[in-house]
Amino acid sequence: MGYTGRCSCGAVEVRIDGQPIAVRQCWCRRCQKIAAGGPTHNAIFRTDDIVVEGVTASDSYVADSGNTLTRSHCPTCGTPMFSGSSARPQMRVVRLGVLDQPHDLKPTMAIWTSEAPEWAIIDPAMEAFPAQPPAPPSPQS
Ligand SMILES: [Zn+2]
Ligand SMILES: [Zn+2]
Repeated sequence: MGYTGRCSCGAVEVRIDGQPIAVRQCWCRRCQKIAAGGPTHNAIFRTDDIVVEGVTASDSYVADSGNTLTRSHCPTCGTPMFSGSSARPQMRVVRLGVLDQPHDLKPTMAIWTSEAPEWAIIDPAMEAFPAQPPAPPSPQS
């Protein structure tokens, strides 16, 4: 069981052979910048399970944790595609909007809720963290 996906223009495609370790919604201010004011939705997969075809562009910054976060997007259409942390190279974050529908993934955790705008409606069924949650457990092989 796996997933396929692509950016808006189709220049970058992704194939994932595996299930996510976690699916989260992130309200941090940096995510609001790339998600037009809302949260990003992110599925965390094992890096080894992901195959990317096409060329992405990326930017990096040092997060509050001290780790370097690198975010990738399609240089042609701008679709946010992936992100990853220098602390956990074995995991890679795939933006949920990239995945082909239909799929069965939905967020079960909201993070950085302290930075969400006042009007945000956060599903109480999700586990919520005001800032960065503990790292997801290392994936088993
Ligand atoms: Zn594109
Ligand atoms: Zn974020």
